[in-house]
Amino acid sequence: MENLYLIKIGEISLKKGNRAKFEKQLRFNIKKKLNSSSRITIQRGRFFLESNEKDIENIRYALSTTPGLVGFSRAVKVNKDISEIKKAALVFAEELASRHQGGSFKIESRRADKGFEFSSYQISSLVGEYLLEKIPSLHVDVHKPDWIISIELRDLAYIYGARDKGAGGLPVGSAAKGMLLLSGGIDSPVAGYLMAKRGVKMDAVYFHAYPYTSDEALEKVKKLAQKISPYLSGVSLFVVPFTDFQLLLKEKAREEEITLLMRAGMVKIAEIISKKRGNICLITGESLSQVASQTVESIRYTGSETDLPVFRPLIGMDKEDIIKIAKNIETYDTSILPFEDCCTIFSPKHPQVKPELEKLKNSFLRLNGEDLLEEAAEKAERFYFKP
Ligand code: ATP
Ligand code: MG
Repeated sequence: MENLYLIKIGEISLKKGNRAKFEKQLRFNIKKKLNSSSRITIQRGRFFLESNEKDIENIRYALSTTPGLVGFSRAVKVNKDISEIKKAALVFAEELASRHQGGSFKIESRRADKGFEFSSYQISSLVGEYLLEKIPSLHVDVHKPDWIISIELRDLAYIYGARDKGAGGLPVGSAAKGMLLLSGGIDSPVAGYLMAKRGVKMDAVYFHAYPYTSDEALEKVKKLAQKISPYLSGVSLFVVPFTDFQLLLKEKAREEEITLLMRAGMVKIAEIISKKRGNICLITGESLSQVASQTVESIRYTGSETDLPVFRPLIGMDKEDIIKIAKNIETYDTSILPFEDCCTIFSPKHPQVKPELEKLKNSFLRLNGEDLLEEAAEKAERFYFKP
């Protein structure tokens, strides 16, 4: 195999009895993104990936977008022979020195095989000296090095260099399935990403009020689905025709109640599709008091229209922090494209901020919209995005 990676798992390592289940899920999720030559072995809590995939960037992308691992490094394995170890370390040192413009380094050695002729300390010294001799511009700093090369003696000698960051969290599929309400905004893609990192496998649903919302708005949401799909380990997006329900609201609802009744309609449809798909929670991008429909009272109401728990991972977050994550997962630039989604078009000038629960529940019943909602759910079109 041409490429070897050492993968570090984070939270999974805290699992006790059911750890194997999490490990298996993570292995499955990584392999799904790589070609069939790829093999993952687990040794003492560490994952080793071997792959003959030609495109290294593809491997890096796959690893950095898969929840459940905290970091990874490209590695090589050589015989347990000090001169082979030195040569392998030199290759990584050259790469790291150019990435960091020279600088200081440290060698970290570990010996699972106590039979090896040198101690960990001796291995580090010998390899360190060798690198200094070959690249005289380097210097050693054991406290605050610019970069580290690690050497591990196991069945063979493993040497690895640059550490890349993973997404952290838990592998998708280790928790139950959910339904993400995905709009074209900044927040909901981030919400999906965060719940994926807690292990939730999810579908997404988008409410499209054509022609009041444009094809561009739909394309934007598809693009967002595609962008978060690697983190979600693949996602099906259900596009629901929402116009008839919106028109019903326009005709029958009190203006100041429209926004919340519309939310309730979304929640209901999401629930109907969820039942068919085996999803047992809903996920939204709501953040407390960000807008009128996200006050405590409003959220209490919209949550009351479904039996399913509604997860709102952004509830306590500032917009600034949400934006940071959106930039990180590269959804931000798409989210800020100017196409309006359905909520902005029909929304009243003065939406209710402190709705009364019972009053709204009655208003929702009086709409008599059940058949319409069922029909909309039935007509949803599904698009699948690969991880
Ligand atoms: P976002 O940035 O996610 O659009 P927002 O701050 O614009 O959120 P709202 O428009 O009030 O907030 O929507 C709150 C949540 O309701 C969204 O995060 C999303 O989960 C859901 N939602 C809103 N509009 C739609 C839609 N057209 N399709 C699917 N879900 C939606
Ligand atoms: Mg929005």
